[in-house]
Amino acid sequence: MAFSGAENRQPGRIQQEFNSWAARSAPMPTESQLRDAVLRTGVRRRIENGQLPSYVPNRIEAGYGCGDVCVACDQPISDTQIEYEVEDDRNGRPLSFHFGCYVVWQLECTAAKPKPSAE
Ligand SMILES: [Zn+2]
Repeated sequence: MAFSGAENRQPGRIQQEFNSWAARSAPMPTESQLRDAVLRTGVRRRIENGQLPSYVPNRIEAGYGCGDVCVACDQPISDTQIEYEVEDDRNGRPLSFHFGCYVVWQLECTAAKPKPSAE
């Protein structure tokens, strides 16, 4: 008897289990936060030493990765991950980022170059 009917489907019960799972998980330090901190430091350093541009280009292409190495974290971008590719205006070189790394780079660009006041 694989399916015994609707009585097994109790959304309330599933929600309850989810809540207790979330409560257990919440206090844990999040790995992604730690990784972000390391990544942001690395990206900022690369902006400072010129490895990465300090602005976000207008032209961006997005797609699935094809094994290119991410210029922010030096890890390959696999074909199951989203790759953002931009062109470095300084030399026309394509820069490949993981989607997450691209976002971090954008954040660091904003931090590195605050908008000049209009005056
Ligand atoms: Zn990356």
